[in-house]
Amino acid sequence: MKQKENKKEIKDSNNPLESMFARFDTAAKCIGLDDETYNVLKVPSKEIIVNLPVYMDNGSTQVFHGYRIIHSTILGPSKGGIRYSMEVDLDEVKALAAWMTWKCAVADIPYGGAKGGIKCDPSKMSKGELERLTRAYTVAMADVFGVDRDIPAPDMNTGQQEMAWIVDTYSKIKREFVPGVVTGKPLSLGGSLGRKEATGRGVMIATMEAMEKLKMDPRKTLAAVQGFGNVGSYAALYYQERGMKVVAISDAWGAYYNPKGIDIPKAIEYRDANHGRLTGLKGATKIENEDLLELKVDLLAPCALENQIHSHNVQKIKAKLIVEGANGPITFGADNVLQEKGVLVIPDILANGGGVTVSYFEWVQNRNGYYWTEEDVFNKEDASVKNAFSNCWKESKKHKVTMRIGAYIFALQKVADAMKFRGHF
Ligand code: NAD
Repeated sequence: MKQKENKKEIKDSNNPLESMFARFDTAAKCIGLDDETYNVLKVPSKEIIVNLPVYMDNGSTQVFHGYRIIHSTILGPSKGGIRYSMEVDLDEVKALAAWMTWKCAVADIPYGGAKGGIKCDPSKMSKGELERLTRAYTVAMADVFGVDRDIPAPDMNTGQQEMAWIVDTYSKIKREFVPGVVTGKPLSLGGSLGRKEATGRGVMIATMEAMEKLKMDPRKTLAAVQGFGNVGSYAALYYQERGMKVVAISDAWGAYYNPKGIDIPKAIEYRDANHGRLTGLKGATKIENEDLLELKVDLLAPCALENQIHSHNVQKIKAKLIVEGANGPITFGADNVLQEKGVLVIPDILANGGGVTVSYFEWVQNRNGYYWTEEDVFNKEDASVKNAFSNCWKESKKHKVTMRIGAYIFALQKVADAMKFRGHF
């Protein structure tokens, strides 16, 4: 209950679009971005809203609102996930679409940014209803999606199954098999090896790069990881593999702490056998979810939700390094306090970019019809995240700004440069 009240209070004052603009404006000012480029990039290039009638299992028809926002196609076809949630609205999708533009530019992959969403509660829908909704959305977006146009991927509450329905529907409309129209597909349908580990692995690579800068020894590092889903559990697993002691982990139902370190492979095994939850985990003490963030650790990796570190708890944060596995876990106000406290924050658009990078590898493999080994995928991903880290680090030093603003500067410059060459008419 405490958590719910807390979240609402923060959400009221932390609109994702405002939060994105706060950083975008700071970076634009730093590099003296001209008004014309600013005016193009501050608005999405295309906003599509669809109303989808879907037959429900009880014989009724329900109308769902769906969105696809294309923020930019300056660097290439737009890329971004589709989320199913009751929280989906135009502002949220617009912010996430712009975020994808910056993230793809930082990752140095040839994509613009987009995001999609359907306002629905998938937990209350049957598999058949979800399938009809996904196919209806795909039909409505058939002229928007495309291998060289706009490439969706999974996001909150969507996964391999939804991507497979999209490939099937889209391929039937186009009368040819088009696996490259989405990424995040099952392996049997053209998915890539290494995709499920990719975001957590990228978080670990970005963390190792940051630790080198701070001269932190992994074997003397205590880490806390918030969120134990796809991103958090792999980040924690890789942290442990690299010699760190992961002393706390959490999920939506609680946090677990052991100062001697938690056995991460065992925790994953336990979660998988326990309906995806850590509830009842042995060998660690249960603590409050909020307390995990304030533990005396060296490294904190928020890998769950947005707006977790905010003006009310930021002063209590003790970690000297924070790596954003989640999108938007730190509010704009908290950013400033962390900077004053001398905490190094590795921003989401850099830290979790390993995910979209391996999505790009999936698309490349689909286009070539030739599939890589897991080792190939990991080697290429590691090199890509290291390169992105180095680019953002250089910008942050050059302009004497945080890594977050350094990352935005790198992205903005890249997009602005391509825009100047392309021009418009
Ligand atoms: P997921 O649904 O697999 O896992 C989310 C985890 O967070 C779950 O363990 C959930 O129980 C936990 N959680 C929810 N509320 C919590 C709370 N209040 N306190 C602690 N834990 C809580 O999602 P994911 O794919 O791991 O994504 C996590 C974040 O990373 C999201 O912000 C997502 O947008 C971002 N992200 C994901 C990817 C990807 O490839 N999966 C890529 C880039 C960014």
